[in-house]
Amino acid sequence: MMGLFDRFKSVRDAHGALKACGGDPFGVKMERVLSTTEAMIEGRRTILCGTNNYLGLTFDPDSVAAAQQAIADFGTGTTGSRIANGSYSGHQALEQDLADFYGKKHCMVFTTGYQANLGAISTLAGPNDFLIIDADSHASIYDACRLGSATVIRFKHNDPVDLDRRLARIANEPGNKIIVVEGIYSMLGDHAPLKEFVAVKKKHGAYLLVDEAHSMGVMGATGRGLLEAEGVDHDVDFVTGTFSKSMGAIGGFLISDHPEFDILRVACRPYMFTASLPPSIIASVRQSLAVLRAKPELMRKLWQNVDTLYNGLQAAGFKLGTQKGPVVAVHLTDPVLAGVAWNALLKRGVYVNLALPPATPSGTALLRCSVCAAHSTEQLQHVVSVLTEVGEEFGLLPQPALRIAA
Ligand code: PMP
Repeated sequence: MMGLFDRFKSVRDAHGALKACGGDPFGVKMERVLSTTEAMIEGRRTILCGTNNYLGLTFDPDSVAAAQQAIADFGTGTTGSRIANGSYSGHQALEQDLADFYGKKHCMVFTTGYQANLGAISTLAGPNDFLIIDADSHASIYDACRLGSATVIRFKHNDPVDLDRRLARIANEPGNKIIVVEGIYSMLGDHAPLKEFVAVKKKHGAYLLVDEAHSMGVMGATGRGLLEAEGVDHDVDFVTGTFSKSMGAIGGFLISDHPEFDILRVACRPYMFTASLPPSIIASVRQSLAVLRAKPELMRKLWQNVDTLYNGLQAAGFKLGTQKGPVVAVHLTDPVLAGVAWNALLKRGVYVNLALPPATPSGTALLRCSVCAAHSTEQLQHVVSVLTEVGEEFGLLPQPALRIAA
């Protein structure tokens, strides 16, 4: 008989190879977090450049105070789901805040962003329906497809022509068609061509769901994300997102104007059968959303910082994603070499994300940096120079001649 864990052999081998070269992010322990941009790791002061803490709000004094007050007033947790234990006033207040922020009628708050996708996507699409998803979708979108009962069709990453072609093939099917894309892609950092996707959606009478996990608080004049930046707010049917990135906490949400939205509250299993967000998180997210609305300068600072990091790494000769944004991914191919380089960065006091398949498209290994509004220019220049040092040491710079010529 096969051993229970035998089927993980390839995963174990790959992980073992990474551990052997020191490239094991699970092994990283943040002994102390000194600020939004620095922590003590292995006794070393380390610049955090892989946190998704885009607006730097994890230590916002008002958000911290709001969370502390909520613990004092309501306790540490809700100890159950809303359908069983009822809601706390904060849950509804946050849903109202988010609906107002997006200018939509309805919002449901989930316990994580992962569950928001899991719940929204698996519940919206029924057994006769079609989910047409971008091939580079986040794991939560893939898992939602597996949880639900709809037929799943993948289209080529960010390719409206391929999406159109695939929708045309099912044009005579009576089921609903729901297109799922992301605003900013979490690993490569590229943006969906939303205007083009909206045109295709309209042509085929489909619905469009956009996961704005990495673009909320980052893009658009008021931070609503790519849909605001592209001026398609009214053409997107469902928006999901998370509080674990620009909001600096944890949790997720689903937004829509659909008149029958509220039925989801008693039909969506990843919403119904898990404990609701604790009051402290609700309070800190409400405060962080208020900060985002009151301080547009944070987003401006974030984008200045994006320029510093992206332009610096580009000038050094690294192969980066083609679209600029707060996810700045250095593209490599060999996972072990990426692990070695990642470890060398850590030893020099720079923390980035090591991103490998299946989180990345196959054949792509990334040193994924994420930019924070709270980074100083000096910190980001330091990150560029340490990455360059490591890049030279391990031969990661694909075009050194070009780099010298530039
Ligand atoms: N969607 C995308 C695109 C993500 O990148 C992530 C997390 N990295 C999620 C959803 C899940 O969010 P959370 O971590 O809040 O569960």
